[in-house]
Amino acid sequence: MSSKNQRITFARSPQGLPTLEDFGADEVAVPKPADGQFLSRSIYLSLDPYYRNVMKNSQIYQDRLAPGDVMVGETVAQIVESRHPEYQAGEYVAVRNGWQQYAVSKGDGVRRIDPAVAPISTALGVLGMPGLTGFAGTVSLGEPKPGDTFVVSAATGPVGSTAGQTARLMGARVVGIAGSKEKCDYAVRELGYAACVNYKEGDLATNLKAACPSGIDVYFDNVGGDTLVAVIKNLALGARIVLCGMIEAYSMDKPPAGPWLGPVVGARAIMKGLVVYDHLAMQPRMQRTVGGWIQSGQFKYREDISDGLAKAPQAFCDLMRGKNFGKALVRIGPEKV
Ligand code: NAP
Repeated sequence: MSSKNQRITFARSPQGLPTLEDFGADEVAVPKPADGQFLSRSIYLSLDPYYRNVMKNSQIYQDRLAPGDVMVGETVAQIVESRHPEYQAGEYVAVRNGWQQYAVSKGDGVRRIDPAVAPISTALGVLGMPGLTGFAGTVSLGEPKPGDTFVVSAATGPVGSTAGQTARLMGARVVGIAGSKEKCDYAVRELGYAACVNYKEGDLATNLKAACPSGIDVYFDNVGGDTLVAVIKNLALGARIVLCGMIEAYSMDKPPAGPWLGPVVGARAIMKGLVVYDHLAMQPRMQRTVGGWIQSGQFKYREDISDGLAKAPQAFCDLMRGKNFGKALVRIGPEKV
């Protein structure tokens, strides 16, 4: 084990889309666990769009960043030394180590990971917070019925692919919206969607109408903006809209002009806000269900792994530009040593 701990730090709030200058880097001694703490080495770092909001110290999140602080974030890690009564060295955990190789934890909010269920990296993606968001938002808020047309944006990411495949396995006809032909082909071929519309080609509202001839019963919105505007033009009667994420707006200094919501009224649609933390009690059910689907081959996922902590800022900048393909992760260390 190295005696040095490499860290990526917060330098400043980005102007618009994040750039490498918004991050710093340093090296400090590996911390020592005190009584009631454990030391873990980070293996995978999760990169999530909401970090962009944390970087502007948005009030919705508890995390606060000052220049020089280690960037916050969830990791999959292996415990290397424990002075905590409930954790042993060698165990794999999901823990908020942030963008660094080593960190100590008191165990708050830590989840044990069973490597026998699925690859440990999935604890940050389809079997972690993004998976719970997609699963709970679909089961509890979207409530697709067999035969419903279920549309999901950012359709190949961890939230979108969990929402879309959950809806498909609940009997819905799933149509994805994604940003490239490659992503759309994957959505149809691997995720089992009936169709997938590339919003970067042609008129999205027209193409959605063709892909959803009887209208959209459920829209799981991961992006907001023009995509939401196009979907709203194609709602079926009694449609449900799950407002999950608005990535398009995260890098804007001022909120974008609102979409025209008149058709929502006309369609008697219901929009529901989703906050994953309201559904934490569903985590075991989600892990059982989605873990079972992974094991039986009914559920596919993709990961976009960058190697080395130093790649984290670039990988995050890529994520915020939609360049990731699958759950964005940074491999900080080997799974086994
Ligand atoms: P992700 O899909 O891996 O990555 C983001 C994707 O958004 C990109 O790959 C890109 O895919 C798409 N995108 C569309 N418009 C974009 C734009 N203007 N700029 C950048 N990307 C754009 O991310 P994820 O982790 O699964 O999260 C999906 C959404 O869920 C995010 O909005 C996130 O904030 C939200 N979320 C909400 C909760 C909650 O509690 N409500 C919890 C977790 C996540 P395409 O190329 O296919 O468009």
